[in-house]
Amino acid sequence: AKERGKAGHVRYVPGMEEPVLAHIQLGGEIRRGLDAGEFRVVYQPLVALGTGRIVGVEALVRWNHPIRGTVPPIEFIPAAERTGLIVELGRFVLRETCRQTAAWLAEFGPDALQRPAVNVSARQLHDPDFVADVLAALADNGLSTDRLVLELTESAVLRGGQVSQTLHELDRLGIKLALDDFGTGESSLSLLRAFPAAIVKLDKSFVDGIEIDDASPSARDARQAVARAVVQLADALGLETVAEGIENEAQVEQLRALGYVYGQGYHLARPMAAGDFTALLAAQRAD
Ligand code: C2E
Ligand code: CA
Ligand code: CA
Ligand code: CA
Repeated sequence: AKERGKAGHVRYVPGMEEPVLAHIQLGGEIRRGLDAGEFRVVYQPLVALGTGRIVGVEALVRWNHPIRGTVPPIEFIPAAERTGLIVELGRFVLRETCRQTAAWLAEFGPDALQRPAVNVSARQLHDPDFVADVLAALADNGLSTDRLVLELTESAVLRGGQVSQTLHELDRLGIKLALDDFGTGESSLSLLRAFPAAIVKLDKSFVDGIEIDDASPSARDARQAVARAVVQLADALGLETVAEGIENEAQVEQLRALGYVYGQGYHLARPMAAGDFTALLAAQRAD
């Protein structure tokens, strides 16, 4: 990238302009993909660790690109945020998840699924129509507000004034807010005072290695310290906990022993197409 400067001072700033350009170009592709209906939602079950039963589901967006195949969100969410297209993309994920949830509840009854969770970016919280869009997506599908969880990361929440008002409004309406990737930010703890969270999701990085049986108890305690602190804090504040990124049974046992009630992870179930989740609910009904 060439930066304009005074004569004789043409400087190259590697990596400073290319990402912006790439985001704009990718933004055009996302725009085209939205119009062509290339985005879809996959669903990862949320499981009660004690019983193994499915109690909820997290909606995760995918892009079925005609040339690139299935594109993971890490490759397009940043560009969607930067270009503002996340507002429309997020609206699609929300509506699709509500539509699908209503179909599951109609087929399997109101207790089949407590709650679907949808990820929300900071940019969406700044959209003046956000609360109205959420309410419309629920109402159009006959869902009550207590049926929905919105997952927010610390950075999304930390943007100050207007966002805080929106979050309190959602909370007053009965919509549950989850703090995603909890423990990875710099002010996770103080955030809990200001933010009307109902759920904290312990980040995968604190689940990784939690099961390792060290010869030295102190090494193991150190590995479990954050997971333990988070569940104690959540209990004290009356929040629900979810542990993310569980990859083996030993982690399930450790997390249960620490007091975690709910979990998600490849060991429990991977994100899947709606039809596969329907089959899981059918199998669960049969038990
Ligand atoms: P996240 O909200 O923290 O979602 C969890 C991610 O971890 C998902 O990746 C999921 O597939 C993956 N995962 C679940 N269990 C395991 C496990 O046991 N091991 C490992 N290694 N990974 C596991 P995914 O679907 O690629 O999504 C990545 C991120 O993209 C999400 O992180 C979320 O921040 C964002 N994202 C996804 N869908 C949406 C969306 O609709 N809107 C917004 N704003 N962001 C989204
Ligand atoms: Ca999430
Ligand atoms: Ca997460
Ligand atoms: Ca994450």
